[in-house]
Amino acid sequence: MTQQKRKTLRTGADLVAAGVAKPAQAAAIDRVAARYAVAVTPAVVDLIDPADPADPIARQFVPDLAELAMTRDELLDPIGDEAHAKVPGIVHRYADRVLLKPHHACPVYCRFCFRREVVGQGDGLTPAQLGEALDYIRSDARIWEVILTGGDPLILSPRRIAEVTVRLGQIVHVKVLRWHTRVPVVAPERVTAELVAALKSTTQAVYIGLHANHPRELTPAARAACARLVDAGLVMVSQTVLLRGVNDDVETLDQLMRALVEARVKPYYLHHLDRAPGTSHFRTSIVHGQRLMRQLRGRLSGLAQPTYVLDIPGGHGKMPIGPDYLDVTEAGISITDFQGVTHSYCECVPEQAETTDGKR
Ligand SMILES: *Cc1c(COP(=O)(O)O)cnc(C)c1O
Ligand code: SF4
Repeated sequence: MTQQKRKTLRTGADLVAAGVAKPAQAAAIDRVAARYAVAVTPAVVDLIDPADPADPIARQFVPDLAELAMTRDELLDPIGDEAHAKVPGIVHRYADRVLLKPHHACPVYCRFCFRREVVGQGDGLTPAQLGEALDYIRSDARIWEVILTGGDPLILSPRRIAEVTVRLGQIVHVKVLRWHTRVPVVAPERVTAELVAALKSTTQAVYIGLHANHPRELTPAARAACARLVDAGLVMVSQTVLLRGVNDDVETLDQLMRALVEARVKPYYLHHLDRAPGTSHFRTSIVHGQRLMRQLRGRLSGLAQPTYVLDIPGGHGKMPIGPDYLDVTEAGISITDFQGVTHSYCECVPEQAETTDGKR
């Protein structure tokens, strides 16, 4: 049976029938589904090990009653999209780049999604609204990069993606297009020759930001989908969310980052989890995240190192959160190596530059 012919699962009964949830979970899943969007694609179902009660794939996609518990520190709009929304579909927080969100649907719904209050809802931009969003981008010559997100913009039809590519291609100050997606992993069969052709631009550099959290997500089919994109000249980078019970140990992160680099996807960000409602069961501490990053630095190629970032609640931007290796004080500079040993570093700038060949 081909994956196209199998349907996406959206209810407790669907998930039980597929064997990825126990009958006793069905009612709880439906309770969560009444509050937050639920979708699990056939490719993801195939990745879940039903015999493992702590399966890291199931944990990301199968609803859990814990999602209905909201803690005091959680926020409906954790990264402040609203604070920087300009016209429908546009979030403009940094001068040189904007988010363009054509719609809010995804092929799967991650249980920890930072936009869980809006994903899976609404019809997306109308043709008139898309026109206004493009006008906004055209009217501000500082905008150098357009980041297409949502939802997952790669579930638009190739025809609509090509239309966006072409229309953005006519805006001369936009030099870079970046599509954020989970499609190559959760629905690799959607990465067809048509889709790849639609993403290619004749005038702009095109980047694909792949969201992947566990090494098992990089299946042969997912790697092949990435290869189709990279072979076509698109540059791939990755984003991973640090999640308790999914990838919050060094072994898993090591394997994930290696798998990405092997698939020619450059690790870009490791995100500290945003404080979206009902996600506290996925949370780890920043201190733990820094410890993991320190361990990765010693054991992994520089190519495989992501930057660990926190999106400051309220829309203040993503900032690297360490760990810090350099310590600058009045007394001087010291730096800690990957084995934890500290070395003093002398910035000995000579008063008068000397030459080694005796000439001035
Ligand atoms: C994440 C984000 C970006 C992109 O940030 P980079 O650090 O360039 O990856 C841009 N705008 C908004 C509003 C964002 O949330
Ligand atoms: S793919 Fe992204 S936007 Fe969609 S549910 Fe997952 S985290 Fe949210």
